[in-house]
Amino acid sequence: MIFYKTREEIELIRISSLLVGKTLAEVAKIIEPGVTTLQLDKIAEEFIRDNGASPSFKGYGGFPNSLCTSVNEAVVHGIPNNVPLQEGDIVSVDCGVYKNEFHGDSAYTFEVGEVKPEIKKLLQVTKECLEKALDVSVSGNRIGDIGYAVQQHAENNSYGVVRDLVGHGLGRSLHEKPEVPNYGKRGRGYKMKEGLVLAIEPMINMGVKDVVQLKDGWTIVTKDGKPSAHFEHDVAIMKGEVEVLSTFEFIEEVLNNKN
Ligand code: MG
Ligand code: MG
Repeated sequence: MIFYKTREEIELIRISSLLVGKTLAEVAKIIEPGVTTLQLDKIAEEFIRDNGASPSFKGYGGFPNSLCTSVNEAVVHGIPNNVPLQEGDIVSVDCGVYKNEFHGDSAYTFEVGEVKPEIKKLLQVTKECLEKALDVSVSGNRIGDIGYAVQQHAENNSYGVVRDLVGHGLGRSLHEKPEVPNYGKRGRGYKMKEGLVLAIEPMINMGVKDVVQLKDGWTIVTKDGKPSAHFEHDVAIMKGEVEVLSTFEFIEEVLNNKN
């Protein structure tokens, strides 16, 4: 069943979602060649706990860390490790926090040093896929309209749209109904209405759409080994319109000051 949220509940989810954005900004501050994803995980967990929240992912289904860090061909669910990031890598950093009994969940794919133009384009198009998904997340539209918007834009750029992992409802649980696929047909699926809260998260591959899971039981990688990008926002349907609860503003402020 779908749990529709009150205005008060949505404001609590907004607090958690904004804390995720601020946590990812802390990560943005230290991302550079030579840094390990375990170092990113450590500063994220400290920041989350210093802000009176707990990391949603740590212990979720047995996941060992606070962040999912997915480098290059890793799509999602990468486990932080001691391998230094290298110039030209990309890393999707997915973060969840739990505060006031509600979760926030957002992800951003970072560039490490200077990355190739073709990879920059993959990140740009994936972010545009998310924006196009937000545009159609209004009352009366259906979940299929979101998937259609993402899929069209990705495939127009000859990218592969991951089928095996999807966005989701969000609230007192990290993953609630409905599922939000990044592919689909217009006018199909649940009709969106007031109080619906979703985590929308396009996962777009430079090559084929197919993915495989590594033997660590978590990391999802592209089947062809080509890079993959991932951006995620939390949204609520309020007064019929989309209200974006998470933000990349803090992250991009840090990144702009770095350049
Ligand atoms: Mg996430
Ligand atoms: Mg999510």
